[in-house]
Amino acid sequence: MELLYEAATIHRLHHDPNTVQVSTLLSIKTGGCSEDCGYCPQAARYHTNVEGNNLMTVQQVKAQALRAKSGGSSRVCMGAAWRNVKDGEEFDQVLEMVRTINKLDMEVCCTLGMITENQAKRLAEAGLYAYNHNLDSSEDYYKEVISTRGFEDRLQTIDNVRKTNVTVCSGGIIGMGEKIEDRAGMLVALSTLNPQPESTPINALVAVEGTPLENQEPIAIWDMIRMVATTRIVLPETQVRLSAGRTQMTKEGQALCFFAGANSIFAGDKLLTTPNPDVDEDMELFRALGLTPQKPFTKKTQPQTVEASDSEYESLGEKPKWTRPNHKIERNELAKHKHKTLK
Ligand code: SF4
Repeated sequence: MELLYEAATIHRLHHDPNTVQVSTLLSIKTGGCSEDCGYCPQAARYHTNVEGNNLMTVQQVKAQALRAKSGGSSRVCMGAAWRNVKDGEEFDQVLEMVRTINKLDMEVCCTLGMITENQAKRLAEAGLYAYNHNLDSSEDYYKEVISTRGFEDRLQTIDNVRKTNVTVCSGGIIGMGEKIEDRAGMLVALSTLNPQPESTPINALVAVEGTPLENQEPIAIWDMIRMVATTRIVLPETQVRLSAGRTQMTKEGQALCFFAGANSIFAGDKLLTTPNPDVDEDMELFRALGLTPQKPFTKKTQPQTVEASDSEYESLGEKPKWTRPNHKIERNELAKHKHKTLK
């Protein structure tokens, strides 16, 4: 109760407690990812029910963005299941999506994996508002979940984004079997970034069949509330987002999270590939709690969009050497092996 009270007090000092930022997450390229993130059904090596698709067209993305806007979203976050961005046609198409959504006067966020400084600058120039790159867990526990890249790569990408005026969205997942020290470690890593991220998603693991973490028990709501409250205290200015796992939470549980300082949610019936509450249900909850959706560009002015023909940057065709530690994580190996056997 003391923690809640302190978090709610800090929340009121830095934010309007009655507005909540609403984002829509759009999977613009699903599945077939080469990485081995233990929580992710989009990793090609695990046997899950996710059906992959190619990169969406700009027109498809525009139609979805307009739908999201009419449903009350102020931000569209586009996710592609890539290890890192590769210069070329597909990245050019993503840049065009960014231009298109920014022109709809919505905040545009992308989560595309690791990016170089030049790629960050090209996204910024197209009108990107935020780049999402989660730290996922503490540096120690990260090694128990992912073997195909290192924690330092995450920090490097965030650093590359910071060389532009694009804001940083970075958070993590609880319920992956980590210790409380790992949750604290992740918050230390996030809160000592300078500047701190403008947005921090807190996800509760959705254990998907076929992934290495399929047997993890769902976390108790109290863990989520405590995590949100602690995040609010150490990241006072940041928008703290309730992300994956909201379908497992009661309305009362979500209300306590809002009280503890959460002021952002993902709307829409799907979060990339996992379920999410219906938009109408969310709006009903907002009405009951006296909350209203935050207007776009409340925290920072809208970036300008530079057309591709006027760009001052070009595709460099870079081949950066992101790390590949490839240490053995037993449960990841088992899930991969199960995949092979089932094939
Ligand atoms: S979380 Fe992202 S990088 Fe990791 S396997 Fe899933 S899509 Fe790939």
